[in-house]
Amino acid sequence: MAKGYLANRERQEAIAELGKDLARRAKFTCEWCEGKGDLRPWEYSLEAEPTLENLALLCGSCRELAEGKKVPGHELYVIRSALWSPIPAVAIGAARVLSRCTEPWAREAIEESLIDEAVKQEFLGVGWE
Ligand SMILES: [Zn+2]
Repeated sequence: MAKGYLANRERQEAIAELGKDLARRAKFTCEWCEGKGDLRPWEYSLEAEPTLENLALLCGSCRELAEGKKVPGHELYVIRSALWSPIPAVAIGAARVLSRCTEPWAREAIEESLIDEAVKQEFLGVGWE
């Protein structure tokens, strides 16, 4: 367990080092909803190395959405525009949340976005028949 703890700690330190660049990129606003509350780096993939491409600066509310802790409501309309971000963690992270929504517009938004086709298929194939 000690090794895992250390790896996690190193990871947190790596993310903290990227924090300044991330905040500057995000212009100190949430990269999904442009909110300003409780902004923190969010990792799109826990398996990948922490890089700026793999991080999004998200507010508390959007982090809850990202982690599936909150039932998505009208805020999904707001994060739809994040699908157009050139930053993978921002766009693909938003697509992952939107893919859980059963409304047709959410599916259309993902289809129209510029994210990787294979990733799109992965999201749209799950939960859609
Ligand atoms: Zn937000």
